[in-house]
Formats: sequence, structure tokens, C-alpha cells
Amino acid sequence: MRKYKIDHSGGNLTIRVKIWLFFMMLICIVFILMWTFQVVFLEQFYEMMKVASVGRNVEKLASSYNTEQFDENLIDAAMKNDMCIEILDKDGTEKYYQCVFSGNCLMHNGSGDVYFFYMEMLHNEDGIVSRKVYNDTMQSDMLIYGRPLYDEHGEISGYILTNARLVPVQATRQIFQQITMIITFLLVPAGIVLSAYAAENLSTPINRLTVSARRLAQGDYTAQFTGGGCAEVDELADTLTYASKELSKTDEMQRDLIANVSHDMRTPLTMMKAYAEMIRDLSGNNPVKREQHLNVIIDEADRLSMLVSDMLDLSKFESGTQKLEQERIDISEKLREIARRYEGISEKMGYHLYFTGDAPYYICCDSGKIERVICNLLNNAINYTSKEDRSVYLRQINRPDCVRIEITDTGDGIEEDKIKRIFDKYYRSENHKREVVGTGLGLSIVKAILKMHGYNYGVNSKLGEGSTFWFEATAFINEEEK
Ligand code: ADP
Repeated sequence: MRKYKIDHSGGNLTIRVKIWLFFMMLICIVFILMWTFQVVFLEQFYEMMKVASVGRNVEKLASSYNTEQFDENLIDAAMKNDMCIEILDKDGTEKYYQCVFSGNCLMHNGSGDVYFFYMEMLHNEDGIVSRKVYNDTMQSDMLIYGRPLYDEHGEISGYILTNARLVPVQATRQIFQQITMIITFLLVPAGIVLSAYAAENLSTPINRLTVSARRLAQGDYTAQFTGGGCAEVDELADTLTYASKELSKTDEMQRDLIANVSHDMRTPLTMMKAYAEMIRDLSGNNPVKREQHLNVIIDEADRLSMLVSDMLDLSKFESGTQKLEQERIDISEKLREIARRYEGISEKMGYHLYFTGDAPYYICCDSGKIERVICNLLNNAINYTSKEDRSVYLRQINRPDCVRIEITDTGDGIEEDKIKRIFDKYYRSENHKREVVGTGLGLSIVKAILKMHGYNYGVNSKLGEGSTFWFEATAFINEEEK
């Protein structure tokens, strides 16, 4: 069991603390903004709003200047907005006025201030006057706002001056201060509780996953990964469950592989050792016996080297380090050539190969590797075909988009539940383990090569009737002819 250590020296804060800190920071920012805007800048804010509001109303009124509704609009604007309005002509002579402060405003208290404001408008580049002036009579700040009026030709035809009261914000500020204080007292505990809840909600499932992941790292594949809290954590849990399943499969396969390899290697090695000892102790001086024993040793050495080379080939195919050397070949010709070779030794080996070809068919493949596939399947068919008739069939069936190659035997067939496993590495059926020499890697190599080519493959088998292994090679299409 692998042990591992986690390095926490980075000093990272836990999710719980981080969320809590973020919440607290947010609350602090909210308070700072509330206090500065509502309390410190309240007056400036109010004045800005007032200027903007008066400006808007003046604008509206100015647009109806020289129209019939102007008189009505003037009274309306003064009443609704609680401000005095003075309309002057170009020379500064009073044309209209409306006072809502019973003559106490800065324009109508007889102080002659209107003249100064008029002069100010004349001197200002944009013709606008906007400022705060203290009114002793009313004991209040007043906002003076004025601007020129234009005729239809865009020429200055007069001036409008307004005087609105700026209400002291002291009382309002006090109210705001108290409200802000109450909100502060309510928000701090609410923030602490909420942040604690959010942190708990997020960190608990993550902590649970960490505990399970630690168990998995220690080789416990029963560890359960449950999500909760949020979609991301659910997804992480699913991914970990998937990883756990895959790891357990790999682990199982690795164990099987080691068991199989060591078993398959131990058998020939034991045999070789036993026969070598026999030669040393018993048959050393008996040439006939010695010959026999040496042949066993040679056979076992062959078997061992076959196993090792199969293992190496398979790992090369599976790792993707082996590249296909594709060429255009006539599969019909290839099959004929292989069949001829097998027929040549069939008598000696005691089997019958029946080959049924078809018209020439061109495919693009790695010829050497496809030959290996056919030979592996033929060798299996020969090994597992019925002991009575010992027949093996090799067929080529041309189809419009592919050529199907079938290798059939008349043996015992393969049980349905085993069919899925025969292409697995090191799988050898129990009843074949002893009687037939093999590595259990032949079909895995077949599968790897066919997969590299992207060909379909499979096996049809019926118990007692034999099996047919097949694959379909896609037709060669000349790009230039297309
Ligand atoms: P082996 O070296 O054992 O033949 P393979 O990978 O070629 O390894 O085959 C795996 C197993 O599949 C064999 O052990 C055998 O049980 C089964 N098998 C393969 N071909 C046939 C066949 N034609 N008929 C019945 N069983 C077969």
C-alpha cells in the first residue's frame, strides 16, 4: 500500500475561512459606502441633485418661452418646485416674475441682487450662473440658478433666474446615521451567520470527498464519493467515482496480468529446470533419452520466447509506438498465398484447410500486420477445431464497401459468456489451458491490429458447432479517381 503525504506548507486558508473573510470584506465595503455617501457626502450629494433638478425644470420652462403656455408654465414650475422665478429681457429689465417666498427671496427682497446675477450671466462664457448664497432674511442657503433664453434664430432674447431653497441636511444626516447604525448592528451578525452557513455548505462535501479520495489513494476502491452543496461538487464526485472505477479495473487487470505472466513463465522455466536436472543426473550418458529431454527444453524455451515476444508486440501496438506501414494490396492474392502456405504443411500437421476466394479486392493496410491477424486466427482455428474432421475454412466475401474475411473451425465453439472475454489479454479458456500451447495474447494482438486499422471484427460461435472469427477491411479508394 502506497503511503503519501500532503504538503500544507503553502499556508493556504481553508474554504471556510476564505468565504467568511470574503463576506466580512463585502460587509465592510457596504458600510464604508453607506457611511461615506449617506453621512459624509450627503450635503454635496443633495446639492448636486438639487442643481440637476432645477436645471431640468428651467430647461423645460425655457423651451416654452415665447409660447402661449409660458405664463401658465411659469406659475406651475414655481409652485411645484417651490422656487422663485424671474424672467429678464436682454437688457436685464424684469419681464415676468413669480415669487413663492413672499418677497423674502434673494431676487425679490429689494436688495437688487438680481442685477448682480444678471451681470454674472453676461460675463460668464456659457451664460450660466449656479451657486449657493446664504439668505439672512430666511436664514437658509439658497440655490441661485440662471441661464439665457434663446429665440427661434438661436439669439439671446432674455434671461431666466431661479431661486430655490436648500433645505439643511443636518436633521436628515442624523436620521441616516441612526438607520445606518441599526443596519450595521443587524448586518454584522447576519453576515457572520450567513457566511458560516455558506462555508459549511461548501466545505463539508469537499471535506467528505477529500476523506474518500485519501482512502482511494491508499488502495481502498470501496470509498464512496457523494456530492451535495453545488453542481461543481456533484461533478467532482462523479469524476472521482469514475476515476475510482477505472483505477480498480486497472489494478485488477495488473494483478491478473502479473499472475498470468508469472504463471505462464514459471511453467516453462520449471520444465526446463527439471529436464536439465534429468540430463545431469540420469540421461547424460543415454544419447536417446538425452535427445528427448533436450527437445523438451528447446520447446519450452521456444514457448517462453513466444510469450515474451507476444507481450512486447502487444505493448507496442497498444502504446501506439508502432505505426502502420500502409500500402495498397490485393487481399484476395494475400489470402491465396497464406492458404497455399498452410496447405503445404496441413498434411504433416493433420488438418484440412478449405479456402474460398473471391474476385481481386484492393484494400489499404499494413500488409504484414494483417497477415499476422489472419495467421493468428488460422492457428487458433487449427488448434481448436474438432479432433475428428480437423477442418478449417478460410473465406473471402467481397462487399461493395468492404471485404469480409472469415476463419471458421468445427470445434467445440465458445460459450456465450466467454465470447466477450476471449479478446482480453491473457484470457485462456479453462478447458484449453493445458491441451493447447498458447500465450493467451494472440487474440489481443488481433484486436489491437484491427483497431489500429479501424476495421470491424467479431466472432460468431455456437457450442458444439464451432466458431467463425471475422473482420471487415474497408475498400481502397483512390483519391485521384474519386
Ligand atoms: P491462446 O494463445 O490461448 O490461443 P488467444 O488469445 O489466441 O490465446 O485465445 C484466447 C482464448 O480464446 C483461447 O485460450 C481459447 O480459449 C479461446 N479461443 C480462441 N480461438 C478459439 C477458437 N477458434 N475456438 C474456440 N476457442 C477459441
